[in-house]
Amino acid sequence: MERADIVVIGAGLIGSSIAWRLAQGGRRVVLLERGEPGAEASWAGAGLLQPEAGREASPETLRLWLESLAMYEEFVREVQETTRTVFEFRICGRLVIALDEAQEAALRTRARAQEEVGIPYEWVAGDDVRRMEPAVTPDARAALLYRQHGLVDNRGLSKALALAAAMAGADVRHYEPALEIAVVGGRVDGVETANGRIAADVVVNAAGAWSSLLAPTETGTVRHVTGLPSPSQHDRPSASTDAPLIVGPAKGEIIALEARPRPIERVVTAPGASISARADGRIVVGATIIPGSFRKEITADGVARMIAAATRAVPCLSQARFLEAWAGLRPHSRDDQPVIGADRIVGLYWATGHFTMGILSTPATAAVVADLIEGRPPRVPISSMSPRRFEQ
Ligand SMILES: Cc1cc2nc3c(=O)[nH]c(=O)nc-3n(C[C@H](O)[C@H](O)[C@H](O)COP(=O)(O)OP(=O)(O)OC[C@H]3O[C@@H](n4cnc5c(N)ncnc54)[C@H](O)[C@@H]3O)c2cc1C
Repeated sequence: MERADIVVIGAGLIGSSIAWRLAQGGRRVVLLERGEPGAEASWAGAGLLQPEAGREASPETLRLWLESLAMYEEFVREVQETTRTVFEFRICGRLVIALDEAQEAALRTRARAQEEVGIPYEWVAGDDVRRMEPAVTPDARAALLYRQHGLVDNRGLSKALALAAAMAGADVRHYEPALEIAVVGGRVDGVETANGRIAADVVVNAAGAWSSLLAPTETGTVRHVTGLPSPSQHDRPSASTDAPLIVGPAKGEIIALEARPRPIERVVTAPGASISARADGRIVVGATIIPGSFRKEITADGVARMIAAATRAVPCLSQARFLEAWAGLRPHSRDDQPVIGADRIVGLYWATGHFTMGILSTPATAAVVADLIEGRPPRVPISSMSPRRFEQ
């Protein structure tokens, strides 16, 4: 039987970066991907790097995001040098704008939340917003400026990470789905694929929105949470009960426009849209958040709302060329927080559930999962992210 030290399931940003770090450490790693590497959420995302305090983040999650942002520049440099690839990465800053009185009040609450945890921001008055970004609507009453926020070409990064993993010695297998995680006597025994079993003592479940579908049922962390509303059976391709998955999909629709010269330098976040201008002339406007369905359909309503929000915030975009719309499935846990850590089943680790921040979280997640597997203390605390919090 074929044997590896570690099998990583899913070659999105999370799985590829973990496989890379483990292979760099000298482990024999197999990275299984049922399609093309980086072709799901990691391809669909907007690529914004924007950690901030708010109700979405527990203290440990926020710390993971901040650590990841701090690591990003060096991480990109290492990936680019290793693979000799070039892709866009910029710390360009981000303005979160308020367009009416209620939004300005909400912005003040948001500012206080940053202050409480020491995240740097500046309060910018309306006139100064337009001096900084003349294309922003004169209706902007105020903004929060985060100078440290930025963006990355997540498609370029995804491809490069799968390549980096292979260059470090990982066996990266395209179109080879994991069918089942094999468990014997409460320990991981390997992974079943259509080509047979790969024996391994360590398995990392980084299968994104599909992670729960792979969770072993026997004695490990549960697949489902009972007592919560569930998506319809029709939307869940292979789930076996009606209870909701502990990690499931949250669809995001997103669009690209084209405008030259680029109308804005910073990322502009307005109610209903985050707008960012890329080096290639694309203006990416995202994104909707619709939990519960594995279907990636793009709705007229989603596209209409994003266009309305973007043209309200940056009026000249009404003349921009419409390029395309697409959708992807964010891995979304039942409590919105990432799922990182050891399962009750010995040798099984989860690295998923990064929801709206998986591109941002990639460098730190790869580091902490490699730390856990190699028996080092993780560089940031992650105990609240354990998959075992869902056990009943
Ligand atoms: C519209 C949209 C906008 C977003 N914007 C941002 C943003 O601006 N900033 C940010 O930080 N994040 C953003 N995100 C979120 C981010 O994209 C995700 O959190 C991140 O990409 C998740 O990475 P992943 O590797 O866990 O999942 P994925 O990229 O989905 O990778 C999982 C992989 O597992 C594979 N897989 C599944 N089942 C199996 C199996 N049985 N066997 C083998 N392989 C399997 C899949 O094919 C897939 O390639 C956005 C997401 C969307 C959809």
